[in-house]
Amino acid sequence: MKAAYYSGNQSFTVRDDQPKEPAAGEVRIKIAYCGICGTDMHVFHGVMDARVTTNRVIGHECSAVVDAIGAGVEGFAVGDQVVVRPLSHCGECAACKKGYIHVCQNLKFLGLDTEGAMQEMWTLPAHTLHKLPADMRLDYAALIEPTAVACHDVARANIQPGEDVLVIGGGPIGLLVAMVAKQAGGNVVVSEVSDYRLKVAEKLGFKTLNALKVNVGEEIWKMTGDKGAEVVFEVSATQPGVDTMTEAAAVRGRIVMVGIIGGRKPEVDLFKFFWRELQLLGARVYEAADYEKAIEMIVSGAIDCETLITDIQELEDITKAFQALDGNATAMKSLIKCS
Ligand SMILES: [Zn+2]
Ligand SMILES: [Zn+2]
Repeated sequence: MKAAYYSGNQSFTVRDDQPKEPAAGEVRIKIAYCGICGTDMHVFHGVMDARVTTNRVIGHECSAVVDAIGAGVEGFAVGDQVVVRPLSHCGECAACKKGYIHVCQNLKFLGLDTEGAMQEMWTLPAHTLHKLPADMRLDYAALIEPTAVACHDVARANIQPGEDVLVIGGGPIGLLVAMVAKQAGGNVVVSEVSDYRLKVAEKLGFKTLNALKVNVGEEIWKMTGDKGAEVVFEVSATQPGVDTMTEAAAVRGRIVMVGIIGGRKPEVDLFKFFWRELQLLGARVYEAADYEKAIEMIVSGAIDCETLITDIQELEDITKAFQALDGNATAMKSLIKCS
């Protein structure tokens, strides 16, 4: 079987490997498609070499079919269509004991801290799998992981029907958050700086604001009758986005941090938290319920997968696929066809 190893220097080496037999509690799955995540692009750029190391199979946004089952695994049969919730928790830390296993204090992320999905066959713990309907399209199913991210973000915000929602940043995650927030009953506006992404957001039926042309905070207050947005998702991971999130939020508004801001700490207008009694909510990965919700949303057609998947490449061409996606202003989600 073929496996794509990240080999440093913005490249992958595709090698022939022996498929691993599943041990007790494990399942071997045949990967159908694996999406390229922003995190994978960070790996490609070498930013995460210390964590990921080189000579590792990365990838975590996959759809697959069960190929072999280890001892003691129940609830799965060979041929089942599945997706992977790529988290491994310790079960012993304080967070795990409280039931917050997705933010386990010793959390391992499969496909970064362990081997991942950019290969034909992947052997992994059965507890990470969610079963899919037998007739579900596996290219669409590769969007379940990022959709689950969006479901978790929206669950953190606890959106009520009729609330005004601003999504700052209209990339794949921003648009998924917008679609899930709309399904929860929110009146969603997306702000973006890229003309292409603004067009995609409009095609998906959202009101948009071009953050390069208007003051998004002021516009939101105008659009909402001098009230502001009850819920703001910061997905851009930029200082202007962080400025906008406090400007746009209504009194008692909830702001969810979706964009991952590492390195330099942004400036946050804490005065507005006092003045308007704002709340800031962290959101990281997903819980099992977010996966079930994401599966349901894609099956029901509430997520426009056709618009989000902009290209599909072969596993052999993975380095080219990353190069093509890198800085491509008109790409949304690229999938790798793994088998
Ligand atoms: Zn991802
Ligand atoms: Zn733990």
